Amino acid sequence: MQAPSPSDLAPRQASLLAELRHAEGELSGQELHARLRGGPGAMGLATVYRHLRQLQQRGLVRCRHLPSGEALYAPTERDEHHLTCVDCGSTVRLPNCPVHDLRLPGEDLGGFLPMYHTLEFFGLCGQCRGDRTSG
Ligand SMILES: [Zn+2]
Ligand SMILES: [Zn+2]
Repeated sequence: MQAPSPSDLAPRQASLLAELRHAEGELSGQELHARLRGGPGAMGLATVYRHLRQLQQRGLVRCRHLPSGEALYAPTERDEHHLTCVDCGSTVRLPNCPVHDLRLPGEDLGGFLPMYHTLEFFGLCGQCRGDRTSG
C-alpha cells in the first residue's frame, strides 16, 4: 500500500498523522493532544478529534475501541491486529496479520476501492482464565 504524502493534508492533520506514524503503538486522542502540547502542532482536544475523524474518512487512520470505551488510533499502513480481554481489558498485538493475503471474493466489488481493514479478537486472557478456573 502506498503511503499517502502528507503534503495534500491540512497542516494539523499532517502533524497528527506524523505523530501517529512516529509512535511505537496506538495512541488515544488524549495522548495525541498531550504529545503535541507546547509544540508547533499544539491544538485543542476537540480539534484533535475532528481531524482524526477526517483522517479516518480519508482512509489514513483507523480507530479501535477498548472495552473501557477508550478509542485508540493508528495509521492504516501499519497492518496490526489485537487480542483484547473482555474481563481485564488487557490488549496484546498479534505477531502478524492473519488475513494479509486474503482476496475479496469476486472480481466485481461494484466500484468499491478497499483501502484498509480491521480485525479484532475478544476473549479471556490467560490471567483471567486462571482466575475463573480457580475461583
Ligand atoms: Zn484478562
Ligand atoms: Zn491485517
